[in-house]
Amino acid sequence: MYVCGPTVYSNVHLGNLRTFMSFDVIFRYFQHLDYKVRYVRNITDVGHIVDDVDEGEDKIAKKARLEQLEPMEVVQRYTVDFHEILGAFNFLPPSIEPTATGHIIEQIEIIKKIIDTGIGYEANGSVYFDVEKFASENDYGKLSGRKIEDLISNTRTLDGQDEKRSGLDFAIWKKAQPEHIMRWPSPWSDGFPGWHMECTAMSCKYLGETFDIHGGGMDLTFPHHEAEMAQAQAAHGKPAVRYWMHNNMITLNGQKMGKSLGNAISLEQFFSGDHPLLEKAYSPMTIRFFMLQAHYRSTLDFSNEALQASEKGLERLMKAAAKIETLPISETSSVNISELKNNCFAAMADDMNSPIAMSYLFEGVKIINSVADGKSTVTSADRDALKSLFNAFVFDIFGLKADIQAETGNSEVLNEVIALLMKLRAEAKANKDWATSDKIRNELAAIGFDIKDGKDGVSWELKK
Ligand code: ZN
Repeated sequence: MYVCGPTVYSNVHLGNLRTFMSFDVIFRYFQHLDYKVRYVRNITDVGHIVDDVDEGEDKIAKKARLEQLEPMEVVQRYTVDFHEILGAFNFLPPSIEPTATGHIIEQIEIIKKIIDTGIGYEANGSVYFDVEKFASENDYGKLSGRKIEDLISNTRTLDGQDEKRSGLDFAIWKKAQPEHIMRWPSPWSDGFPGWHMECTAMSCKYLGETFDIHGGGMDLTFPHHEAEMAQAQAAHGKPAVRYWMHNNMITLNGQKMGKSLGNAISLEQFFSGDHPLLEKAYSPMTIRFFMLQAHYRSTLDFSNEALQASEKGLERLMKAAAKIETLPISETSSVNISELKNNCFAAMADDMNSPIAMSYLFEGVKIINSVADGKSTVTSADRDALKSLFNAFVFDIFGLKADIQAETGNSEVLNEVIALLMKLRAEAKANKDWATSDKIRNELAAIGFDIKDGKDGVSWELKK
């Protein structure tokens, strides 16, 4: 599986997050089903031009110029930020995270192949992809649903000064202007690869000429993925990707989000609540839970109401998950756990329908609470099945974890409260008041705390 990663010149925003969230769940789901998944997610550290056209400044070089840094300092800073943010959301790291600058040689090799087929052509040290020539034998526009005739008629005519044969053509190698600091030697010029080329080179290197899944945000479908598809076809004479998967966008109170629209909220602002549109702070796990409640191909609308409902939902789910072990067992079950399990997995098998799987999981929450209240019964085997279903979905596939920060607001306070409870429990034990000491331990276990009596005294940890 290959997923287009970030261009590391700014902080991760919500839109990026939705992409990595969608594919984190897909990665987790296939791994849970025991598939061996090689998940490659690249870091774009060169070649992404401002405004996504061939002419202009590299996004990273521009940031470096404005902040008077080395381009690689910009790359390093935002790569570290990216990993920190993704860690907070409990995203699994990909199997390989290659960078564009680390694969210049591989990109040059593919460009040579495209030139050999006659679809790539050199002009003044740059190399372009001849879209109309490619389209004469292949279906260009297949992925994004565009027609070559429409693309041709919507393209500006060249002014005669242009190196390209047609306005539709895109650069696969670009000769660097004297002021352009990110440059490498090549057979054509000192320059840098076109943005679309890195993904073709890196996916092919690590996943082979044909691989299963290519993912990314819907906004990348055109031109980026359409170009990737064409480049691989031109270089290798066959399609690279078996399944393209695109996640949809995020809106805020029903409107598109964007800096120019004045409603962009950074992730840091979500965590601190410091934004006029936010009623309070929201934790990464609340946002993760919230994103699971929409299908990855549907738009997802952020609002305070929806986030607050998610915060409560997550808490309910976690409390129920922690309670399963303590449920009383009976000779017979009055509930059908195997049907519940089938429904959860069937939802995921239906193009990763996480909201439907989540709604079945909440049927499980109802069952757990009803057994705890003595209104339903489960056998020991069914209680185990319920436990493994919740472990599979809540932790493995959905990647949720107890959100202690959100519930307490301050983990230092939490440490003190736990220490106090431990002291009370130790006093109860010293007084041989076993009922009280067990009660403290069991009630904490129900919330998710694992209390251990060791040689060096009592220790505790919060189960994931
Ligand atoms: Zn890409």
